[in-house]
Amino acid sequence: MKRFVVFGFSVFLSFNLLGWGATGHRVVGLVASKHLTAKAKKNIIKLLGSNSLAEVSTWMDEIRSDSTMNHISTDWHWVTIETGKTYEESPKNPKGDVIATLERIISELKKHTLDKKTETEYLKILIHLVGDIHQPLHVGCCDDQGGNKIKARWFGRETNLHTIWDSYMIDDQKLSYTDFAGFLDEPDAATLVAWQKNSVREWANESIHYRKQIYDIGKGSLSYKYSYKSLPIIHERLTKAGVRLAGLLNEIYGK
Ligand SMILES: [Zn+2]
Repeated sequence: MKRFVVFGFSVFLSFNLLGWGATGHRVVGLVASKHLTAKAKKNIIKLLGSNSLAEVSTWMDEIRSDSTMNHISTDWHWVTIETGKTYEESPKNPKGDVIATLERIISELKKHTLDKKTETEYLKILIHLVGDIHQPLHVGCCDDQGGNKIKARWFGRETNLHTIWDSYMIDDQKLSYTDFAGFLDEPDAATLVAWQKNSVREWANESIHYRKQIYDIGKGSLSYKYSYKSLPIIHERLTKAGVRLAGLLNEIYGK
């Protein structure tokens, strides 16, 4: 059964969206760039050149069909942790998952021993996956493929729960990523510091915390009411992802 869970979630990623849609990822990148120290900014420019964090935030989704990028697994975008279990107790996907990958990438970047090409790649992976792990359905609970198998209607349109969270609720706001980021509440200094102290595994546990509310979809016909109760979660997850990404980048490049 446990094996099936890991395999089941793996399959959907070959044909479905990977994490927040482009707008969500760009919002995370833009929020992060607003919280970088001057030194971190300068060091990141050495790697990304004129490309902003928002611009490179979707790179990990764009390379999926690039055969020269096969060393980057689509399984790195998500993890399965059954309700009531911890990550440590859960069966691990042999191809990797978002928690293991983030922990590895962060540890490698902190060593400052990578060649420039590899370091740039790792940096782009970090920027993307900090976003993904904050999308609550990327910390999957069961064999429904992160909500992909949960059929739902969004304002009458046939879709699934995962896509509603990745894209529809954000895109239906009809805001550019810069406007969307501008609409987010800025955390106070103490909250910001507290958020940046949390570990990757704590970020994942927070995503699990929202499951009950996310899966409370009645007969699956969703519109304004669901959006109204879910948007505050999306706002908080995107803000936290951006602030935490900045915290990591300041730690790695701001010293
Ligand atoms: Zn992704």
